[in-house]
Amino acid sequence: MIWSLIKITAFILTVTALTYGAAMLYDVDGGATIAVMGIEFTLRTLDMVVALVALVVLVWLGLRLLAFLAASYHFLNGDETAISRYFDRNRERKGYEALAEGMMALASGEGHLAMTKAARAEKYLHQPQLTNLLTAQAAEMTGDRRKAEETYKKLLADDRTRFVGVRGIMKQKLAEGDTDLALKLAQKAFALKPKHAETQDVLLRLQADKADWKGARQTLGAKLKSGTLPRDVHKRRDAVLALSEARDILDEGNPIEAREAAIAANRLSPDLIPAAVMAARGYIAQGNARYASRVLVKTWTAQPHPDIATAFAEIVPDETPQARVKRFATLTKATPDHPEAKMLMAELHIAAEDFPAARRDIADLVDTDPTARSLALMAAIERGVGADDAVVRGWLTRALTAPRGPQWICDKCQHIHPQWGPVCGNCAAFDTLSWKRPPAGEVSMPAGTEMLPLIVGSQPVPDETLPDDAETVAKDDAK
Ligand SMILES: [Zn+2]
Repeated sequence: MIWSLIKITAFILTVTALTYGAAMLYDVDGGATIAVMGIEFTLRTLDMVVALVALVVLVWLGLRLLAFLAASYHFLNGDETAISRYFDRNRERKGYEALAEGMMALASGEGHLAMTKAARAEKYLHQPQLTNLLTAQAAEMTGDRRKAEETYKKLLADDRTRFVGVRGIMKQKLAEGDTDLALKLAQKAFALKPKHAETQDVLLRLQADKADWKGARQTLGAKLKSGTLPRDVHKRRDAVLALSEARDILDEGNPIEAREAAIAANRLSPDLIPAAVMAARGYIAQGNARYASRVLVKTWTAQPHPDIATAFAEIVPDETPQARVKRFATLTKATPDHPEAKMLMAELHIAAEDFPAARRDIADLVDTDPTARSLALMAAIERGVGADDAVVRGWLTRALTAPRGPQWICDKCQHIHPQWGPVCGNCAAFDTLSWKRPPAGEVSMPAGTEMLPLIVGSQPVPDETLPDDAETVAKDDAK
């Protein structure tokens, strides 16, 4: 800013001084008289200054001519490249000028101009590795995909630009949705530059998408090695991949190997629920109930989840409901106040037909944090104790419009999944599913109230008063 100001001031001062000087010279008397071949020229002072400037220009032109004559002399004496070198210097200057202008055009978003400049620079420079880079980016900018791809292919030929070419074509294929070819190109790019973070991420995503778990684990290892992934994140993601690998092995009909893989995945990340469930099933198949139980209790303590309870029940499949209530106390011991634990115990008590105990389990939960599941359980309890149909219907009515409670939700796009998976089914992000409540607003069921007469009968009961009555009844019973 200050520098520009100084330049502008200097320019104005120079112009003023020149004008002033010229005016002064014009007024100065005298001059010079030159006689050439009998003719006399009378020069005033100003004319002399102009003549001096013209002389300087003439001398400069003369020097240029001399340089060219010198080049010609060398050429005639056997130096074949002397003249071309003389012109090359000019060409090089023009080429780099065009290249610089092209880069400027690219930076200011003028794709077409950049392409023209790149072609001009190539004409003078013959340095395709430089000018093709500019052309490819300019073509991308103007949306000329064909030209861009053509240029990227040219970049493949040079060792120095091969990675840029592969990456460019890979990005194009990704945008076109050709993931098969994109995966192959990502592998090639990864082989050229294993430490390139963006390539690692693209490759990992494509491998996970194509269920190439083994390859994805290798890429993940490379990410850890190059320092682009913290160790704990690596451990967790490696566990997710190991679990996915185990599932595939199981699908291939190899239960023993799958069991080992699941147990390994559980060791890597003990709080990964599906891995714990699969590992526990592996232990159950081995007849190792103690290990199965231990794995499940550990994961439940970190994150209570119905799938863990299901697997925990499978440890002793043929026990009486009363024995089951007793055995499950070891599972929920560490988390007695968690809603999941309360609902689980209520379910077990309902199965054991101990309805008062079941009511004690969830009586405060349906008040403080009602969900479809806890309200449905309440309806079952009322039915169990032989309450009036209207009361049961009241709980069911509330259950219909209540939030559904935690589910497998993608942290990135909030898509709800019925089952856990390593890759989000909606946005294809890797390891983003968490067991949590959907954000408010997505749980409402606008059609719910209109559907009520169809589901609970067309009794003319106002929607609002019914649940309140039912709640009062429930509370009275609890006392
Ligand atoms: Zn998603």
